[in-house]
Amino acid sequence: MFSAFLIKYAEIGVKGKNRYLFEDALVRQIKYALKKCEGEFTVHKTDGRIYVDAVSGFDYEETVEALKKVFGISGICPVVYVEDEGFEKLGEAVVDYIDKVYPDKDRSFKVAARRARKNYPLNSMEINAELGGIVLDAYPEMHVDVHHPDILLNIEVRDKIYIYSETIPGPGGMPVGTGGKAMLLLSGGIDSPVAGWMIAKRGVKIDAVYFHAPPYTSERARQKVVDLAKKVAAYTGPIYLHVINFTDIQLYIYDKCPHDELTIIMRRYMMRIAEHIAKDTECLGLITGESIGQVASQTMHSLMATNDVCELPVYRPLIGFDKMDIVALSEKIDTYETSIQPYEDCCTIFVAKHPVTKPNLNIIRKHEHNLDEKIDELVQTALDTDEVIVVR
Ligand code: ATP
Ligand code: MG
Repeated sequence: MFSAFLIKYAEIGVKGKNRYLFEDALVRQIKYALKKCEGEFTVHKTDGRIYVDAVSGFDYEETVEALKKVFGISGICPVVYVEDEGFEKLGEAVVDYIDKVYPDKDRSFKVAARRARKNYPLNSMEINAELGGIVLDAYPEMHVDVHHPDILLNIEVRDKIYIYSETIPGPGGMPVGTGGKAMLLLSGGIDSPVAGWMIAKRGVKIDAVYFHAPPYTSERARQKVVDLAKKVAAYTGPIYLHVINFTDIQLYIYDKCPHDELTIIMRRYMMRIAEHIAKDTECLGLITGESIGQVASQTMHSLMATNDVCELPVYRPLIGFDKMDIVALSEKIDTYETSIQPYEDCCTIFVAKHPVTKPNLNIIRKHEHNLDEKIDELVQTALDTDEVIVVR
């Protein structure tokens, strides 16, 4: 029955000259999201609103699901279009609309008409009163409540007449692409996909880097990361996933450095390499799934030691989250089931029994000098063999 959607978006921060950038980005992201859906749509801005019109048959559920993944949308209103064929026909359409959308009639309502076309024979007040009367005649169980109606029946008079009353919540946030780009360190765990999702929600485009260590980490572990990137890409649009072979670096560190410092030193090299790729690809920051105290490598001391090697800002949106809350978010964005598949990611193989929890930065730096002979070459090889997968 619905043939269009009115897209609502929060206007905070998008006043003035940035507004059109925001709206254009939103239109672009909506078009992208709908490409995967059955049917054809046009997406247009009219009078400071965004409409999605179906120009062919479409799958309602699928379309709503796709729109629910577009950051920047705060609400999705399914719309019924009626040709302007006189007030009587409009009355019939409204009665029919209520019957289909609200099988249970024992509710209050209010008509809210708006004329974008001022030559319509009735003004807004008159439309409200007349349509209100028609609804009451058709459904005596219903009653008018102008302050807190259960149903706010919106009637918009344009070329056609639009009827809508329901708002399906959108994900909120800002359209991806309005906030620059960042590089996500994406592992196969629960946290990093959620971290990437959170930053993307603020309008930031995401690329990702995954460090794998074949044969210590399996092809399945790598595929799991691709699968996770795909889940995140459902919200963000295409993700360029850089797969970096970390094996030789890891083995070299294992060979030359104290084992209780392995994780920290490995993490420092991950950050260095991620930053290198980030700078090459115009990313303005790094993103990790770190959260204070979650593991030894995420104490305040460890975070400081890891952060020490980065020039770009490192965004850690989960820094103050409990695991429980991260899990809840990962379930919501549908990455959880993939994250808990039991394939080892590269850190878990080389973890020491008793990793340092309070690494001393000077000592870490000193021990890294044990790597001086070969590390630059190994890092260069890792960068040269970067395999880029475009994940959609
Ligand atoms: P996650 O659930 O995101 O894997 P974690 O709790 O396992 O996190 P760590 O293994 O200490 O934590 O990793 C901390 C962060 O470092 C991750 O959130 C991720 O951003 C990054 N990271 C760790 N391992 C890798 C890897 N193999 N490739 C890319 N990034 C990684
Ligand atoms: Mg991990």
